[in-house]
Amino acid sequence: MAKRKPHIEVDGVEMKWCGTHRRYEPISDFARKTASWDGLQATCRDAQDVAARAWQKENHEKTMLHKCRTRAKQAGVPCTITADDLVVPSHCPVLGIQMVRGLEDGKDNSPSVDRIIPERGYVKGNIAIISYRANRIKNNATPAELTKVSKWLNKSTSPTLSQEKLNDTDTSNTDEPLQHRLRLA
Ligand SMILES: [Zn+2]
Repeated sequence: MAKRKPHIEVDGVEMKWCGTHRRYEPISDFARKTASWDGLQATCRDAQDVAARAWQKENHEKTMLHKCRTRAKQAGVPCTITADDLVVPSHCPVLGIQMVRGLEDGKDNSPSVDRIIPERGYVKGNIAIISYRANRIKNNATPAELTKVSKWLNKSTSPTLSQEKLNDTDTSNTDEPLQHRLRLA
């Protein structure tokens, strides 16, 4: 164990040694850790965030698997996949956008695990790694429901608006993977 450096006081501010940055930092920058000698973590929050992100990036598949298990429990469905089943493609198979590993959740480009048929759970052959954006669009919709949504959107938007939308997205790209997904299902 590293030698304990006592807190010091600088200009009336209590400072603690940060083991990562190797400097004194205000104690307000440290998260709590009840088991430690001073009730605080040995490194500052910034250092911990960086370390956590690096770990997540390094262990991305394990992190994703952990999330799958949590979600499977919540949904009452099986989860029998392993980290090896979670191979992140370079691009989203649905939208064609680049996938960025190690991004925090909720970013469009973050990879996410989709259950092709939700109630079958996270089992081999029933999962696809798609972008968070595609997953959010799909949510728990069936292919038939998505077709209806798409038809309704095309009908209810004005011709100029639809044209703008068409120019915005590569539709040839979005149609193919859906077909592919339907075959998978
Ligand atoms: Zn620090």
